Amino acid sequence: MPSGKVHDWVTVGTAAAAVPVVYLQVDSLQQPLAWLAIATYTFSGIWLSSDLDIESSAYKRWGPLRWLWWPYQKMVPHRSWISHGLGVGPLLRAGYLLVVGSLLAVGAVWGAQRLGIAWDADPHSWLRNASRLFTDYPAEWIAICIGLVAGGAAHSLLDFAHTRLKRMF
Ligand SMILES: [Zn+2]
Repeated sequence: MPSGKVHDWVTVGTAAAAVPVVYLQVDSLQQPLAWLAIATYTFSGIWLSSDLDIESSAYKRWGPLRWLWWPYQKMVPHRSWISHGLGVGPLLRAGYLLVVGSLLAVGAVWGAQRLGIAWDADPHSWLRNASRLFTDYPAEWIAICIGLVAGGAAHSLLDFAHTRLKRMF
């Protein structure tokens, strides 16, 4: 399969190529959504890479936080449809990160409260506010989902093309 560097360059290159297209072709009112989709696309390709299912450069990129992806890596077989499937892969990783991040945040506040060093924080109200974010900004969430899915699709298509070419030659 193509190296992590190739995936990174394709992600950044295609995102950069999309900038003038959006600037020239997309209605100025819709442009913020397009920028959001491009930013999410880049994040999806670089930080939520499909290759987080192995000890890849994408996995190492997470540095001291890489352990967050350790359970994911153990659960998901490399290049399976769960990690590399169109749509499923990136949305699942975004959901995984959201769940793991939320659990850690709630756990940290709970722990700090037990130790008596936390302010009067209420994780329940946080969750309520967070769920309001989902319902109040539907267009933004669609743009985010498009970016996430496209970022994963670029990766999977490149893997697929690479395998095909290798078989041909
Ligand atoms: Zn891959």
